[in-house]
Amino acid sequence: ESAEKSKQAADTVADSSLRLSTDKHQDETSKKKLCLKAAKEHNIPEDLNKVLENKVLETVSDLYYINMSAVEMTCLDGGDEEGIVSKSVSSHSDLIPGVYEGGLKIWECTFDLIEYFSEAEIEFTNKTVLDLGCGAGLLGIVALRGKAEKVHFQDYNSTVIDKITLPNVVANCLNESSRGDSGDRKTSKPPLKRPRKAECLPDVLTKCRFFSGEWSEVSQLLLSSNKPFSKYDIILTSETIYNPDYYSALHDTLAQLLDRNGHVYLASKAHYFGVGGGIYLFEKFIEERNVFRSSIVKIIDKGLQRCIMEMAFKDSS
Ligand code: SAM
Repeated sequence: ESAEKSKQAADTVADSSLRLSTDKHQDETSKKKLCLKAAKEHNIPEDLNKVLENKVLETVSDLYYINMSAVEMTCLDGGDEEGIVSKSVSSHSDLIPGVYEGGLKIWECTFDLIEYFSEAEIEFTNKTVLDLGCGAGLLGIVALRGKAEKVHFQDYNSTVIDKITLPNVVANCLNESSRGDSGDRKTSKPPLKRPRKAECLPDVLTKCRFFSGEWSEVSQLLLSSNKPFSKYDIILTSETIYNPDYYSALHDTLAQLLDRNGHVYLASKAHYFGVGGGIYLFEKFIEERNVFRSSIVKIIDKGLQRCIMEMAFKDSS
């Protein structure tokens, strides 16, 4: 019940965001086509305690997350690239000027996908995982807990990575290392205390990398970087197919970054009113491209229909 409440609470934060993003989207489409948001890798700060300073942590499904409605955004020296000014966040437009793609709140399909991982007993052990369009990053955090070898996080907005994703991962990693490895995640109680202070970078954090920027730009950055890069065994993505204008970039990014025998787990609403995207439209798009096979592995029929889709390369084993 408390998880349900937290979900609702999370949904009240920036709940009009997608609609606003959509309205804005009409004006921004042409701009975006000419000027795709450049990709950037975000370093994990050395002082992890700073990352969680002045943040209000809450838990949902045994995971820590930063309560956005209570975040006091403080201007870093000279501000950051998205021009954040010092103020309490009352809406995403206070926090992220320009194009915002919804990463400041936890969208409900994230919880559908987390539930699906346990039902379908999805194995993350020793896998390389990408949480694509991560927002709060809970999917990647679950993969980390499942002993993934590497987990990478991507969001369109660099502010989301710095202020939400990274702190969430740090909060969960500090908590994880203070618990030790013995806890059975399915039966353990939600953590009640703040995670312990960090003395050094927990091992689990060394498995993580963080990226912001538009999908095709991030894909380019990864593939052309000097750092070694191996394609992902698993790509997780929730509520990222609302806008049909992005289908091509999303599809190609999945095709470029997924290992030949890898799997994509995608969670989405059946239809996004006002924006026009949805699972059946994306399914049709995939069929036409003829690169992936896809199947809808779960339908959640409460209220607005939601689905989980699994994708793999047509020629995979
Ligand atoms: N997955 C999170 C969840 O379920 O709570 C966030 C979902 S939010 C509605 C959509 C996410 O997709 C955002 O993280 C946004 O940054 C990312 N996104 C959407 N369009 C994108 C694009 N064209 N390029 C890169 N990222 C994009």
